[in-house]
Amino acid sequence: MIAIPFLSKRHPSFQGGVHPDPQKELTEHKPIEFLPVPQELIVPVQQHLGRPGKNVLNHNKTPLIAGELIAEPQGVVSAAIHTPVSGSSGLCSHVTLPNGIHVEAVAVQSNAENLQGRALFDELLGGEWPKSDFERFVRREEIPELVRKAGIVGQGGATFPTAVKLTPNPQKPCDLLLLNGAECEPYLTADHRLMIEAPDAIVCGALIAALSAGCKRIVLGIEDNKPEALHSMQRACSGTPIEIVQVRAKYPQGGEKHLIRVIFHRVVPTCALPLDVGVVVLNVATAAMVAAAVIRKKPLTHRVMTVSGHGVVTPKNVFAPVGVSHRRLIDFCGGLTPDAARVISGGPMMGFAVGDLDSPVTKGTSGITVLTKSDLLHQRQTACIRCGRCIEVCPLHLMPQKIGLAARNRAWDLAQSFQAQACIECGCCAYSCPAALPLVQLIRLAKAALRARSTK
Ligand code: SF4
Ligand code: SF4
Repeated sequence: MIAIPFLSKRHPSFQGGVHPDPQKELTEHKPIEFLPVPQELIVPVQQHLGRPGKNVLNHNKTPLIAGELIAEPQGVVSAAIHTPVSGSSGLCSHVTLPNGIHVEAVAVQSNAENLQGRALFDELLGGEWPKSDFERFVRREEIPELVRKAGIVGQGGATFPTAVKLTPNPQKPCDLLLLNGAECEPYLTADHRLMIEAPDAIVCGALIAALSAGCKRIVLGIEDNKPEALHSMQRACSGTPIEIVQVRAKYPQGGEKHLIRVIFHRVVPTCALPLDVGVVVLNVATAAMVAAAVIRKKPLTHRVMTVSGHGVVTPKNVFAPVGVSHRRLIDFCGGLTPDAARVISGGPMMGFAVGDLDSPVTKGTSGITVLTKSDLLHQRQTACIRCGRCIEVCPLHLMPQKIGLAARNRAWDLAQSFQAQACIECGCCAYSCPAALPLVQLIRLAKAALRARSTK
């Protein structure tokens, strides 16, 4: 057994943050289940940060083979999109995703030739994985292109194209790779289960990523409320150079900037990226898919998602294709309870309310949370009482109430002067606000306005 260093006073936690009820017990001990192949998927050509993919299908009905390219990346910050199932493509249309993006999407009707869930999961992430001598499988300089072709994006929610991170940049050399297994968002346990059920794929992917990016040191950061996942990863990392660091459970501990600061003592400046301070950050699910892309030449078409909350009858961790609807996943978990009141794409802190249950999940959907009426009872909005709690808990030391006020008044210059763009939308301010002000929504509004202004 390798030693697991535990963060002590020498590694203080970040300032701010909150301790919401984790609610992980609803699903953390439930093995991953497998959604039967859906009859129809709606596959958006943008499931990532950056430019939408370019649809390469013609507009007639086309037979498709699972894993076939349906949209190619446009530019460096963009990602390929593949069909998760074999079948035929229907009409292209547009779809509005829970995050508000309105984007072209391809309807795919599945046929009888598709592998069912368990077999597909094993083909993608199961079995034996190499942990050294990768030259037997791939040349180092080929790795970013394989990852790009497979359409791998950050599965922690950020959906940044992974190939960009794995392409060595002489101007910004990276020496550290941070494997993010914190999964601090309440309710979500998809990464947790993946660390238990596919740890070797995660380790293989992390080693490949470090090789590609030129990182000399690899550290897995994992919260101290996941002992089962910790021991699974400990076994899988044995004999490899990967170090494991337990970090204290606190929200948003899994935010990459905080984890980098806590583990590596490097500070990522406002509006900069981890790459700017020499760190590549990979979520554990992303690392597993890097392994699948490089060793097994599989694109990212499926993922593990947690469907949880007291508003769903049987919360589960589910392996499912991207493009399946929120409704289908919820039905697979027994449907909504009579007191279900709000469906959220993602977790309750950073997720987006789902307006249309027929909208598809994407590569960045780590889960679906269904809250009940009683979960929402305390949320009656009043005026700001200037208590300052939102400032105390903001891990970036912003002034959320001031940005929110500026956004309400469409005072974008003022919002900019309060560094609205630096906000990571963690939701700590809104969670702590006794006046139940929609601070994150207001800040998102300000960020979108400032973004639109800067691109004019
Ligand atoms: S926490 Fe809410 S009520 Fe308190 S200062 Fe911030 S916005 Fe105002
Ligand atoms: S202002 Fe942004 S970063 Fe700060 S607590 Fe609110 S959501 Fe989080």
